[in-house]
Amino acid sequence: MKEELYARVILDIISDAVDRPFQYLVPPGLQEKIKIGSSVRVPFRSREITAYVVGLDKKPEVDTLREISSLQDEGALQEELVELSYWLSRRFFSRWIEAIHLCLPPGNNKVRTKYVELILPLLSAKELLEEKTKIKKRALRQSLILEHLAQAGEEGLPWNDLKKITGAGRQSLLSLINKGLVKIEKVPGERVFTDGIAASAPGNTNLRFSPQQEAVWKEIRKGFSSAPQELLIYGVTGSGKTELYLRAAEEALSRGRTVLILVPEIALTPHIIEQFRGRFSGEFALLHSNLSAGERFEQWWRVKRGDARVVLGARSAVFAPLENIGLIVMDEEHENTYKQSDSPRYHAREVAKWRAAYNGSVLLLGSATPSLETYAEAKNGNIPLLKLTERVGGRPLPAIEIVDMRQEFKERNKGIFSRKLWKAINETLLRGEQVILFLNRRGFSSFQLCRQCGYVMRCPSCDISLTYHASPEHLECHYCGYKRVAPEFCPKCKSPHIRNFGLGTQRVEKEAKSSFPNACVMRMDSDTAVGRGAYIKILSAFREQKAAILIGTQMIAKGLDFPDVTLVGVIAADISLHLPDFRAGERTFQLLSQVAGRAGRGDKKGKVIIQTFTPWHYSIQAAAKHNYHGFIEEELKRRRALSFPPFSEIILFSCSSPQEKKAAETAGKLRVSLIKNLPSLSAGKEELLGPFPAPIKKINGRFRYHLLYKGDNLGLKCEIIRSIVWNYKKEIRGDIRVVVDFNPLMML
Ligand code: ADP
Ligand code: ZN
Ligand code: ZN
Repeated sequence: MKEELYARVILDIISDAVDRPFQYLVPPGLQEKIKIGSSVRVPFRSREITAYVVGLDKKPEVDTLREISSLQDEGALQEELVELSYWLSRRFFSRWIEAIHLCLPPGNNKVRTKYVELILPLLSAKELLEEKTKIKKRALRQSLILEHLAQAGEEGLPWNDLKKITGAGRQSLLSLINKGLVKIEKVPGERVFTDGIAASAPGNTNLRFSPQQEAVWKEIRKGFSSAPQELLIYGVTGSGKTELYLRAAEEALSRGRTVLILVPEIALTPHIIEQFRGRFSGEFALLHSNLSAGERFEQWWRVKRGDARVVLGARSAVFAPLENIGLIVMDEEHENTYKQSDSPRYHAREVAKWRAAYNGSVLLLGSATPSLETYAEAKNGNIPLLKLTERVGGRPLPAIEIVDMRQEFKERNKGIFSRKLWKAINETLLRGEQVILFLNRRGFSSFQLCRQCGYVMRCPSCDISLTYHASPEHLECHYCGYKRVAPEFCPKCKSPHIRNFGLGTQRVEKEAKSSFPNACVMRMDSDTAVGRGAYIKILSAFREQKAAILIGTQMIAKGLDFPDVTLVGVIAADISLHLPDFRAGERTFQLLSQVAGRAGRGDKKGKVIIQTFTPWHYSIQAAAKHNYHGFIEEELKRRRALSFPPFSEIILFSCSSPQEKKAAETAGKLRVSLIKNLPSLSAGKEELLGPFPAPIKKINGRFRYHLLYKGDNLGLKCEIIRSIVWNYKKEIRGDIRVVVDFNPLMML
């Protein structure tokens, strides 16, 4: 008699109740075929559902086991990804199945939409907007659809996207069709949405490296013989990092290995994609969430089948089904977009490290402003630090000037533009060159800033900016809950001009238009760049000189290359500097450095003007001098003093409920539970702060309360913390959610 075989499977149901392996008997006919990573159909309760095999046993755990019904896909997941998904679910506090979903083909193998419904406007943009004003009051959804279609132009937008953006239902669409404003067209998914990014010429594969590049290349080559090996390339913008990535990719391929390239955001990095596509053409695959379902699916399968051996993509591409990875590149490794903000809340850098270790790959982390976490590792000697300090061709970095807005205030200039920036914009426009105006972030939380002296109210124990609350009026620290009254006079200079600070791109646009009536002004932020390809459209219009001034948020700060931009103005460096976040200084430095990299990319000389009420701040001073080391040493000192990462790790617990009292209560009880069950916490070796309301206290009708756990090597405690929280969750009744985020990047 044949030996019996049992499979442990993870059910494809997103629920805590089934978040563990279930054992099933493997029918004799399938014993040879089923592997770890196969997808199968199993009976569960009264249904049949999909499940993934995560283990095979010779012995049953109980006597009465049900049998697997059928085998779906023998090699749905490679064994590496099964292990990865387990690790990821523990480390980042998700269900195992959620982590598995990350590794499956896009669309999760469900029926793929072969056709896409495209909604096309039947009127011009102007006419659509006129129609919109007519129906605005009665039908909000319809007017939203019209607004987005007006922006998208004659190519229209896929219904699926419109639905998502506007929240509209079929009924709204049908009304618009009946009114003769739009029509539906069914088009094959594959045809419509290419990513819109060309392939550049194969490029010069035997380009002579500069001496600095050559030195870095030697280290990378060495890395291949001692892999797994992590390397940090710290290289200023334009120093030739991409060229090194390309060469490293060729090296990996020549060794019979595959290549994974991660970039922060596809839409913002056309340059690197063009080069990789040009160099590796048939072997290249782009994994990109902005492709149509069909195309995404096709690209993914090319990777899975082994046809494409060089894969480029954003965060989620880190789960690409590549085998035998020889090289992983993470460009702009400091970028926030590498961390996923919903479950599983993973960081792609950590996943990349895991895969590099598993596959024995070279991992190249590249940045002009490496994150503190990575830099600290380099400093400790764990990762070799490779430097590229000069731009290729000796092109100079742009000159940066700081404008003290306190002075403007004193001299009664209450406008958005300082006199210096105004003059510089004017001169640039007269020369027929282009200007980028940059607002670090759209204002959401307000802080109090003294216009007279630049003083900002901060927490005495956390050094985080205090957030202003209107009713009842007070200031609050969102790390420790410290509260105080809002002062009427500046504690430092006694001026009464201490007020809330907030500024949006729309206001900048309005003022730019009125200050420079002859210039064409464009704005790019998450309001204007909606729908597929919208970013690329706005950017290429700007590249084609259809506007002289581009106003935008951090979206425009990254990776862009406009030869005719010779002036970059930072409207208010203070906005990102005073976010209630311990990384505010780091973010500001990174943003300013990147923005500065936008100016003077061509042959013309560039100039950057930074406006701020806080001109003495080390982040701003260091950015203005292109002084990464100066910045990072100061920042490390501060982080160490307050034991923030990289000198600690943080776990954020966020409890939310439609009722504020419930949210606060849940967080309070969770605190008690954590302290009771974690001896290291009660012994005072670690800190648990809170509960206190989140900086954005209410989102989507839910009140949010935070607990913040700070300590060394919390990564080792994920398992126990998980069981405490999961046990606690079982006791919760009503509409309450508890979210756990390991090393969060945003604590809003
Ligand atoms: P980074 O990725 O660091 O911003 P890139 O790799 O894009 O820099 O290089 C900037 C520019 O210099 C590109 O146009 C690239 O083709 C060119 N370049 C890079 N290395 C060399 C080299 N060794 N010789 C000549 N040109 C180079
Ligand atoms: Zn003051
Ligand atoms: Zn505090």
